[in-house]
Amino acid sequence: MRKETKCIHAGYTPKNGEPRMIPIIQSTTFKYDSSEDMGKLFDLEAEGYFYTRLQNPTNDMVAAKIAALEGGTAAMLTSSGQAATFYSVFNLAGAGDHVVASSTIYGGSFNLFNVTMRRMGIDFTFVDPDCSDEELEAAFRPETKAVFGETIANPALIVLDIERFAKAAHAHGVPLIIDNTFATPVNCRPFEWGADIVTHSTTKYMDGHDATVGGAIVDSGNFDWMAHADKFPGLTTPDESYHGITYAEKFGNAGAFITKATAQLMRDLGSIPSPMNAYILNLGLESLAVRMERHCTNAQKVAEYLQKHEKVAWVNYPGLPGNKYYERAKKYMPEGTCGVISFGVKGGRAAAEVFMKQLKLAIIATHVADAHTCILHPANSTHRQMTDEELIAGGVGPDLVRLSVGIENADDIIEDLEQALACL
Ligand SMILES: *Cc1c(COP(=O)(O)O)cnc(C)c1O
Repeated sequence: MRKETKCIHAGYTPKNGEPRMIPIIQSTTFKYDSSEDMGKLFDLEAEGYFYTRLQNPTNDMVAAKIAALEGGTAAMLTSSGQAATFYSVFNLAGAGDHVVASSTIYGGSFNLFNVTMRRMGIDFTFVDPDCSDEELEAAFRPETKAVFGETIANPALIVLDIERFAKAAHAHGVPLIIDNTFATPVNCRPFEWGADIVTHSTTKYMDGHDATVGGAIVDSGNFDWMAHADKFPGLTTPDESYHGITYAEKFGNAGAFITKATAQLMRDLGSIPSPMNAYILNLGLESLAVRMERHCTNAQKVAEYLQKHEKVAWVNYPGLPGNKYYERAKKYMPEGTCGVISFGVKGGRAAAEVFMKQLKLAIIATHVADAHTCILHPANSTHRQMTDEELIAGGVGPDLVRLSVGIENADDIIEDLEQALACL
């Protein structure tokens, strides 16, 4: 199946007389005929469901669709993108370990790593995604357990050289984890470029309708845990809480990572989405390929319009020829990148404020990447406590406006921008 078809059909094939749509199994618990039958599930000796905090059939059907889209061997849903990011790293690294991460990752991921996970004893080195090979090499330590980056960084729109980061990670015997939220598997499949694990905030394009917060983790099945057994004892030595099974031996490279994350992290931390939310996410996934195409053509038109406008100081969109990441985006995302653009209006912070107030169609929201066009002026909202100098140092200048182009008619979006820019 091609990607458009997978969006509709992957993950669930109804048998004769069964429901056409993925059924919502809204049940916390599952019934068994004997304690022995249930015991086998607790020993991970048999497959099946016993309690929705660990696994639920509706969630698993939707996860299987995302795995098929990414070209992975196993996947799980989480209750948020933050939970997916946390589980993906914590499944590999513990106190005393170290992770290399791109410095331009989503602010929520940066805070999770730099503050919360540091408090858990895990150390992080943040590298500029465009750093030299020497700088990248120097970031690794003997206790490094993973490398983490983002396909298209939110909100800087920096396109990561996935192949280069995968080679560096593998040279040090560790996997590359990629947050593929902005590109989605419709536009980029990081496994084809050497990434080992992919994470998503499904809250964005995958759900696509401002309806449900969620996350996903997908395993490529390519990383050979046993070949690096000393680095990953959690996967390569017995887990006493499951009668001494060894994940990498029992489930192989295809299943070890997700089984461990489910059996240990989901069991202990419980960041499971409700089956109802998984069902809503699936509705979004069915139209994902069609929507991404429209997001990209609309964003391209809007970016080209803004670039020509005399009151616009600069435009950052990887689909614009001349953009620093244009060539790299063509390599990794030949069919389009995403619908998010950032730009600056002439006149800085004050002019941006006037412009924002005039918009009628574009909704002012912290959210990005869904059907509705929305817009954010960080200097006057999320970052308002910072001075102009601090904003510039952080790469989010006082004039920066982040525009998430929706799937409305592009001419309506442009007319809205036009009337607002006319007021400057
Ligand atoms: C929003 C976002 C997250 C966090 O996801 P939530 O679903 O909000 O928890 C992670 N990564 C990226 C790139 C995001 O845009």
